[in-house]
Amino acid sequence: MVEELRSKLKTAFRNLRKQNQLVALANYSCCQSCAGYAIGQRIEQNPSKYRGYVFWTKQDDEVLEDLNFVYLAFGSKRITANSNTPQEESNVIIGREIKHELEKTGLKVEWNETANERIKVVS
Ligand SMILES: [Zn+2]
Repeated sequence: MVEELRSKLKTAFRNLRKQNQLVALANYSCCQSCAGYAIGQRIEQNPSKYRGYVFWTKQDDEVLEDLNFVYLAFGSKRITANSNTPQEESNVIIGREIKHELEKTGLKVEWNETANERIKVVS
């Protein structure tokens, strides 16, 4: 069951990279703050290439292995001063795109559609 969840997540992440221009990283880095920092740098180095990000960490992966669900962190890249959309709204837009893609691959998503809560994915 965990294997099926992993394989569907990989498919969704591949599509999110290609279609949605997200940095999508599986089982990445030790914890949320280290991952967030590294991804932020990656986007800053190539801001025209990326719109946002989604990832789960090695910590999250242990939960995935044991309990067969995973929490995904996500967000929009830092918005520019001349953008009309506030950061939080941009984050939610990215979250909805991720949710849509996950559901397309047949995964179940539990998320309250706010930027404050990570996206929980169950098989
Ligand atoms: Zn860390």
